[in-house]
Amino acid sequence: MSTDQTIDVALVTEWLREFARVITENAQYLSDLDAAIGDADHGINMDRGMTAVIAAVDEAPPTDLPALFKKVGMTLVSSVGGASGPLYGTLFLRMAPAFGADTAGAAEFAKALRAGVDGVVARGRAEAGDKTMFDALAPALDALEGALASGDGLAPALRAAASAAEQGRDATESMVARKGRASYLGQRSVGHIDPGATSSAMLITAAATAFGAGG
Ligand code: ADP
Ligand code: MG
Repeated sequence: MSTDQTIDVALVTEWLREFARVITENAQYLSDLDAAIGDADHGINMDRGMTAVIAAVDEAPPTDLPALFKKVGMTLVSSVGGASGPLYGTLFLRMAPAFGADTAGAAEFAKALRAGVDGVVARGRAEAGDKTMFDALAPALDALEGALASGDGLAPALRAAASAAEQGRDATESMVARKGRASYLGQRSVGHIDPGATSSAMLITAAATAFGAGG
């Protein structure tokens, strides 16, 4: 059992910077994954989106958590395009109202992420096993909630979530795509890791890195 960590604007901003850094570093890899089962733009899309997010946050730093998440979501919707823009945008937009103004604890963060992932499902109608970002996000969220319920603090709970997201990402390799562009390939989508599940695992791992630094 560890003490509950406080999440604030500065910490979420660190998470966003870490995610943007990892996305930029892996943009070519994500687009290569998309080349196999889509149109080779997932890395370009996400890199453009997260670069715009960091620029927007630096230009006019939001002062409370709901405003920060809203700004991230709106920037992603307007700059990413493709399937992933509205989906990632919805994730952050739905997280926004789950936070109070100043700080949040681990339970509040998990509740917000649950609302965000529910939003992704409402928007994209993906189910478990459809070979999408949901296949990384859903196990991550389950692991996060499970770890918190068993008394873990935010940092170890996020490490469990990151590991579950990475397993979920790897499990998409053997799945047949049923949503998005990759679904046009049917059986031929098997044998390739889903690009959106890969970027989503990066999002959760970036949270573990940023939020875990404090303990
Ligand atoms: P596009 O497919 O429009 O080119 P991207 O390449 O940026 O957009 O994103 C593709 C990713 O979006 C996929 O790898 C998948 O994870 C995710 N995705 C596509 N459709 C859906 C959906 N309906 N629900 C959840 N995720 C989806
Ligand atoms: Mg694409």
